[in-house]
Amino acid sequence: MKTPVFAPGQTLGILGGGQLGKMIAIEARRMGYRVKVLDPDTACPAAEVADVVQGEWSDPAAALELALASDVVTLETEHVPFAVLAEVERVRTLRPSAQVLRTIQDRYNQRHFLHRHDLPQTRWANIESLGQLQVALGEIGLPAILKRRTGGYDGRAQVRLYAADEAESAWRALGESPCILEAFVDFTAELSVVLARSAQGEIRFFATAENVHKNGILHTTVAPARFSPGIRTWAEDLATRAAVALELVGVLTVEFFLTRDDRLLINEMAPRVHNSGHVTLGACVTSQFEQQLRAVCGLPLGSQHQHAPAAMVNLLGDLWANGEPNFLAVLAEPRAHLHLYGKRTARAGRKMGHITVLSDDTDEALSVAERLHAQLAERAK
Ligand code: AMP
Repeated sequence: MKTPVFAPGQTLGILGGGQLGKMIAIEARRMGYRVKVLDPDTACPAAEVADVVQGEWSDPAAALELALASDVVTLETEHVPFAVLAEVERVRTLRPSAQVLRTIQDRYNQRHFLHRHDLPQTRWANIESLGQLQVALGEIGLPAILKRRTGGYDGRAQVRLYAADEAESAWRALGESPCILEAFVDFTAELSVVLARSAQGEIRFFATAENVHKNGILHTTVAPARFSPGIRTWAEDLATRAAVALELVGVLTVEFFLTRDDRLLINEMAPRVHNSGHVTLGACVTSQFEQQLRAVCGLPLGSQHQHAPAAMVNLLGDLWANGEPNFLAVLAEPRAHLHLYGKRTARAGRKMGHITVLSDDTDEALSVAERLHAQLAERAK
């Protein structure tokens, strides 16, 4: 069957109008596409650059309205229910497909998929009752992490367990809903590979990134990761195998733990552009957002070549504790780019923007990003 191609002038629909949707929309608008997003908030970040169809992602009627107003549909979140995605797919091309989302959006399905395809991961168990949790803790050991199967992000909907008698409170804290229990990984680093797979099956990946999380939320990214080419190639190979097995069209992000004995374990996959890929905007010939657009529209992928080592630091709502931060110091640094998402209200832990820094030297890019962040944090005290 011939792959449908969607050309500039046509309309891209995006399920979700947050910062990821906004950055895809900016690239799409630059390339002459029209853009519509589905979001409950008419003042969502993407509203600055796209038309908003107001509605919840869980509302099939609203999703159908978006689909019918678009030529091709993609998404910025994996949390749109399968039934809604299937409804969109009934009337329009949806990339990535509802089937890919079904595999990824439920942690059980995702872990099972990794197991079936012999992709390395930590020990885990499916948990549907407190009794099962107590038994599984005995098998998996402590410490462990209990994660709700659906709906979690940025470290939410997960509880760490350090003692067996914490099982009941953890199970209650997650609403007694289906979970998976994971063995805690004693990692030395976290890495991610962001890649794009076109409708024709071509795959291009960005440089493997090195990530630091704080309180379960991404804090900094450095790309390329400061690890041996062997580790980076291994991560790219695993991510490629996952993308091919998923038959995904669009961007796929695979997050890894690097263990003390230099093994890579897959932490999780996201079928979309990713926070750890933000450095690609400015650092690469084609950003992850343009790559997503190209893949979704059936176009050839662009070059992922990276001009210079880059670092990114997230700006969370905590920096707004004393009002709007003063960004002059960031703007005075010629190697830095400031990105603000235009969110109306700042909350602790909410992603409000990020800074990327390019430099000839990876360590220096990171230290400049950290310094700019520390200056903003100082003023928020
Ligand atoms: P997640 O949302 O599942 O990616 O979890 C957010 C962060 O929590 C990860 O990036 C890790 O820093 C940490 N984390 C999650 N799962 C594990 C695990 N099994 N072992 C150790 N740390 C973990």
